[in-house]
Amino acid sequence: MNLIIMGAPGSGKGTTATVIREKFGLDHISTGDLFRYNIKENTPLGIEAKSYIDKGALVPDDVTIRMVEDRLKNLKSDKGFILDGFPRTIAQAEALDKILEALGSKIDAVMYVVTDDEVIIDRVTTRRVCEKCGASFNIKYMPSKVEGVCDVCGGKTIQRSDDNPETVQSRLDTYRKNTAPLIDFYAARGLIVEGNNNVSSDTCIKEIEDGLAKLGL
Ligand code: AMP
Repeated sequence: MNLIIMGAPGSGKGTTATVIREKFGLDHISTGDLFRYNIKENTPLGIEAKSYIDKGALVPDDVTIRMVEDRLKNLKSDKGFILDGFPRTIAQAEALDKILEALGSKIDAVMYVVTDDEVIIDRVTTRRVCEKCGASFNIKYMPSKVEGVCDVCGGKTIQRSDDNPETVQSRLDTYRKNTAPLIDFYAARGLIVEGNNNVSSDTCIKEIEDGLAKLGL
């Protein structure tokens, strides 16, 4: 089963993706995580990506598409994948179609996490992520057991450099302009499964699980 998860930055995509990935044994491919790994390792890709990420802008399509293509050709699970944070432009979605066609594969559903802007800004500015394994916490709503220490791997939890109110606003603007049109792109194929994440991730996940089941997944 091959899925995409979409939603505004900070909408709660990562949390939903983790639950769905575990339920179905899927490979989780997060472009944001891949960029952050490359930044941490100081690779040429990381150095290029950082200048865009720090501004809340998108990394250019050609760089991003190449990175995802490479990852899709080397999947770790034979059960399928969740793409998280990709595609973010129509050009990326069209490139994805071609890559999957060449691999004899396709997208089965697009999970759309719906969250209001006020909720996003509040949640993102209080979010903390593990430096080591990427697990996500929130100092207000979902704190780690020991402050600053990841519950999953014991790594250090930090605030992402792009999780400040100014950058979040430009990430939301970028999302509206470039990424929101993808909802119509996939709705036209009947692939959208929606979950509302304004109240809790549990209700969002339940709605998405029900939607996937209705598609026979
Ligand atoms: P995320 O962790 O998904 O919020 O991504 C963090 C940042 O990485 C974004 O604000 C972009 O700068 C960059 N990024 C992640 N995915 C993509 C993508 N598909 N296309 C372009 N830039 C991306």
